[in-house]
Amino acid sequence: MKLTTILLSLLCALGVPDRAQAKLKVLATVPDLAALASAVAGSRAEVSALLLPTQDPHFADARPNLALQLNRANLLCVVGLDLEVAWLPVLQTNARNAAIQRGASGYLDASTVAMLKEVPRTRIDRSMGDIHPGGNPHYLLDPQNGARVASALAAQLQRLDPAGAREYKQNLERFLAELRAAQQRWTAALAPYRGTPIVAFHRSWLYFTDFAGLRIVDHLEPKPGIPPSSAHVLHVLQTIRAQKARLLLQEEYYPDRTASLVAQKTGLRLLVLRGGADLRKGESYISRVDALVRAVADALKR
Ligand SMILES: [Zn+2]
Repeated sequence: MKLTTILLSLLCALGVPDRAQAKLKVLATVPDLAALASAVAGSRAEVSALLLPTQDPHFADARPNLALQLNRANLLCVVGLDLEVAWLPVLQTNARNAAIQRGASGYLDASTVAMLKEVPRTRIDRSMGDIHPGGNPHYLLDPQNGARVASALAAQLQRLDPAGAREYKQNLERFLAELRAAQQRWTAALAPYRGTPIVAFHRSWLYFTDFAGLRIVDHLEPKPGIPPSSAHVLHVLQTIRAQKARLLLQEEYYPDRTASLVAQKTGLRLLVLRGGADLRKGESYISRVDALVRAVADALKR
């Protein structure tokens, strides 16, 4: 008899239910959202992300195998604010799964519980090129939003799987306690650099830098989604020199030619970072922000 078979018979004999079949399938669009879901779901759900941290969530490919994953999902968590609008709706249609459609019981738009920045007062037309028409969608890097989204996820999981309500509550409480402790650690690590002027490629770092006490003085993209023109790069070079910006933050999925050139011409440090938690290596939301804080503090130390 195989060891797993023996273990299973033992568990059955002890009256421990085999939950392998009953596990909820939770899908998040981006890895950071999946990492939050994972912290709350614990062992009661299989959590995965549709995208890798190396993929730009604004412009992913709607590959057919993603529709297959969505077909089997009990819960779909999205960032919202049109972040996934270029690729997710077609996948939802092809998935033929009523439960995960917008407004259904297995759909969670995390932006509805997050504290948002850069929400436009007037309607922005996406055809003009701006890919943040509903406000800045990169809110998961603010730990306060991490806490809010985790709470919303726990509530939704409790509704979908009432038998696990206690476990979800305990997981959430443990996560929130760890997050509070981590926030103190992050604030202390970044305290020496409060007010430091930096620049970024895309408008995706604002929530993190506001929390970290750093000051973004310009972006290489003139508008979210619009590649830098030579005229705009000249303008950014002037700003970097005038403001004495020390660091340039950029996700690894953007071309880094312009950023490297800017770093070379001004002497600021270019920090190319992953676009999300690496779930393949078991990275949690907290360890992901830990790594980010460490990278930024190390870059500013020199
Ligand atoms: Zn963006």
